[in-house]
Amino acid sequence: MRTFVEIIAAKRDGEALPSGEIASLIEGLGRGELADYQMAAWLMAVYFRGLDDAETVALTQAMLGSGRVLELAGVQGVKVDKHSTGGVGDKVSIALAPLVAACGVPVPMVSGRGLGHTGGTLDKLEAIPGFRTQLPASDFARIVGEAGCCMIGQTAEIAPADRRIYALRDVTATVECIPLIVASILSKKLAEGIDALVLDVKVGRGAFMKDLPRARALAEALVRVGTQAGKSVVGLLTDMESPLGTAVGNAVETREALDVLAGGGPADLVECTLQLGAEMLVLGGVAATGTDARAQLARAIASGAASATAEKMIRAQGGDPAVVADRSRLEVAGHEVVVEAPRDGFVTRADALAIGLAAVAMGAGRTRADQAVDHAVGILVEAKPGARVARGQPLARVLVRARDEAARAIAARVAGAFDVGEAPPPHRPLLLGRIAGSHGSHGRSTRKADAV
Ligand code: URA
Repeated sequence: MRTFVEIIAAKRDGEALPSGEIASLIEGLGRGELADYQMAAWLMAVYFRGLDDAETVALTQAMLGSGRVLELAGVQGVKVDKHSTGGVGDKVSIALAPLVAACGVPVPMVSGRGLGHTGGTLDKLEAIPGFRTQLPASDFARIVGEAGCCMIGQTAEIAPADRRIYALRDVTATVECIPLIVASILSKKLAEGIDALVLDVKVGRGAFMKDLPRARALAEALVRVGTQAGKSVVGLLTDMESPLGTAVGNAVETREALDVLAGGGPADLVECTLQLGAEMLVLGGVAATGTDARAQLARAIASGAASATAEKMIRAQGGDPAVVADRSRLEVAGHEVVVEAPRDGFVTRADALAIGLAAVAMGAGRTRADQAVDHAVGILVEAKPGARVARGQPLARVLVRARDEAARAIAARVAGAFDVGEAPPPHRPLLLGRIAGSHGSHGRSTRKADAV
């Protein structure tokens, strides 16, 4: 076995590393034998030289092995989760987990908090009075078994090496590296004890990946590596040029996600939820085709089964289940500043990044991991690209605790996120691509396929 210095030099010189050497780096980091600066040097070497799929699988498995895999063997069925690379107004998980669980597919979901312009599912869920996102692993497994789904935050036991490595990547300009992103995401997802995974790789202004080729490269790598790690994986590429749905914030997003379970909600949010849900039902083995899956999802909404599952999960996690039927129980800031269309015309831009940053500035999100968020404030996007508006018509509503100078400054920022022009912009479809792994072929034949 080579020394750490020799392994770092080998990657610096472009060598593909055997899995044992990658494992030794991660184990060395955990035991304090490999210094942070050595890991940082290796990460920079990876940034420039890359990792092939076998190396990325080895890194994923080593990072997974730095912690524990949540024990879900007692839960019947094919366990399927969804992971989104993050965006603005992306509250899909809150509707999706109970909806899919109501159709008979268990959903163990470990989610994150908002950071920067993207919101986090945990912050949105914590807008529900009493809802607890930090639960012991044994409660997680019990609730998945009893309610069909459970949504918690990352624990110290889940892929601790990822936490260390991500902190180093953050300060060494090595975050934007596809194999490192893949290993980071998959090590945490595999720790949930899942059998299958649906990925929602967002593309556009408000996404981690701003353009389609980069997003596709990330989705393909995630699907290939996840498949080689023994899971059934499908990736969808979905638009994040404008916020998803109407609401951006915490309580307002949870309210909108619960609207979807009640049969309402904005069309793009409903469509995104159904597309991802259909994939989960097929991977979970309860639907043979996408058409069958969509019919099951529609029935679960219409019958009230999806809302009942959400109530069960919320009750089991200490929250007030009455919010599902009575969304007014979610506290939303009581004042608004309206952002008006400056002229007659068509909305040509509602910039997800600018709106996300405005939401952070008003306290709905955070710029540092240790900051608290205000669950009650938010932004409602009233006119999305393509909408015809008359001068003075609301483009957005900024929901604030007081109509003060700060609120007006936020509204001015939100106004800057919109353009209104003479003609409607070209239509951007929600679904921009689909990548399915062929399980059992070790992912080498990752193929593009039609959406279900
Ligand atoms: N999200 C993660 O969990 N890890 C990354 O490296 C990037 C995004």
